[in-house]
Amino acid sequence: VELPIHDAVLGHAAEFGDTPALIDGTDGTTLTYAQVDRFHRRLAAALAEAGVRKGDVLALHSPNTVAFPIAFYAATRAGATVTTVHPLGTAEEVAKQLTDSAARWIVTVSPLLPVARRAAELAGGIEEILVCDSAPGHRSLLDLLACDAPEPSVAVDPAADVAVLPYSSGTTGVPKGVMLTHRQIATNLAQLEPAITAGPGERVLAVLPFFHIYGLTALMNAPLRKGATVVVLPRFELDGFLAAVQNHRITALYVAPPIVLALAKHPAVDGYDLSSLKYVISAAAPLDAALAAACSRRLGLPPVGQAYGMTELSPGTHVVPRDALEKAPPGTVGKLIAGTEMRIVSLDDPGADLGAGEAGEILVRGPQVMKGYLGRPDATAAMIDADGWLHTGDVGRVDADGWLFVVDRVKELIKYKGYQVAPAELEALLLTHPDIADAAVVGATDGDGNEIPHAHVVRRAGADHPTEAEVMTYVAERVAPYKRVREVTFIDTVPRAVSGKILRRQLRERP
Ligand code: ATP
Ligand code: MG
Repeated sequence: VELPIHDAVLGHAAEFGDTPALIDGTDGTTLTYAQVDRFHRRLAAALAEAGVRKGDVLALHSPNTVAFPIAFYAATRAGATVTTVHPLGTAEEVAKQLTDSAARWIVTVSPLLPVARRAAELAGGIEEILVCDSAPGHRSLLDLLACDAPEPSVAVDPAADVAVLPYSSGTTGVPKGVMLTHRQIATNLAQLEPAITAGPGERVLAVLPFFHIYGLTALMNAPLRKGATVVVLPRFELDGFLAAVQNHRITALYVAPPIVLALAKHPAVDGYDLSSLKYVISAAAPLDAALAAACSRRLGLPPVGQAYGMTELSPGTHVVPRDALEKAPPGTVGKLIAGTEMRIVSLDDPGADLGAGEAGEILVRGPQVMKGYLGRPDATAAMIDADGWLHTGDVGRVDADGWLFVVDRVKELIKYKGYQVAPAELEALLLTHPDIADAAVVGATDGDGNEIPHAHVVRRAGADHPTEAEVMTYVAERVAPYKRVREVTFIDTVPRAVSGKILRRQLRERP
């Protein structure tokens, strides 16, 4: 049977009854499964009564809160498409997304109202701005819950209707609206589930933002479908995060590499009891094997697993199954999930399939491939070929047992005198230096017009070493000559997107 996303996720909510579904990690506010079930249905009725029609785009502009999932599933049940908006975006950025997506409704939180109002003015076409909490002059979701309108009977077509319109991270260009149907999202959820096997008793910390596809699926859809408890944090801040793991006895973490880095290296970690943790998965950016091992060793965990995907893939194609963490080779992002196909093709001779161990572009095909980019048929055609293969733009290789290793993005590879250097590999190496807290590597141009690896290095707090020469020597002693770092700049922080990706574009643009 094919279900729309709200039914695919909350179909069993009533049965989980009094089990806590969502807990606010800062003030302890708790919603049980029975409440989530009741509230999102009532809110769907209220939204329909307020004028939300099938196909309307509703912008959900909020940090992680316990109300976020209620608003999300209520909107899809009312037939709307939800476009999730970065809560730290400026009014201009939010307005761009409102315009691009032709949004008609905004759901926000009172601290973000000035931004939401200004964005609505700039974009035009907004019917109403609703708030999750309360604010003068705006209807709140709490008011709407008092509505006793009958549940709307909106017929959703899971195969055709767009459930969610997240925007890609904008790491390589402008963020693009990605149309994901109910079927694509729900299918991917089912494909990934056997590998993850969360269930009642699992306590997940939602520290990555729900607005990004990773948080939305791994921290909201997947655990709520299985009766797990989701502890919600509005933002990442190391002490608050560690305290939440300790105080809420968190069992599973889905994070991005910067959090693995903190867990492996930061002194603050020793001040907390993190013994409840059983399972850590990292995704969204390259994670070095040595760093992953250092993290699991320090926390006394099974190996840190990885998953691989992108917004355009609803979002996953690979994951290290939970029961294979011990036997998976270090550094792998996992095995292909059921119902999905993959090819690795040559970068020099596009279309030529490569064998085990050879690195090339990762192509995938399956039911989770997006419907397309909103309003960008050319970009869609450039991404998905006539045979349905999605060209990921990522470089990877597969070993003889089918484990995938992601090298880096095609566009980020540095071409040094005809050789290809992957910045992610050098970044991982730099992080093994005891006095380097963080690092990013980008391509730069030397005096002769050659592309060269340029390292941006953050020293450990208080350290005045390594020097530029020491950084270069440290790398030179450990890699083939063509991979050497040829320039070093010391910086205070590595610019990253919320999903943990290094914003190499910003570093390249620095004088
Ligand atoms: P944009 O497409 O707008 O430039 P983006 O590609 O960063 O932004 P996302 O969809 O959030 O937007 O990220 C998908 C990308 O994240 C993948 O293409 C890949 O480069 C990277 N990625 C995801 N998982 C992993 C992983 N486990 N290891 C390495 N890289 C990963
Ligand atoms: Mg991308």
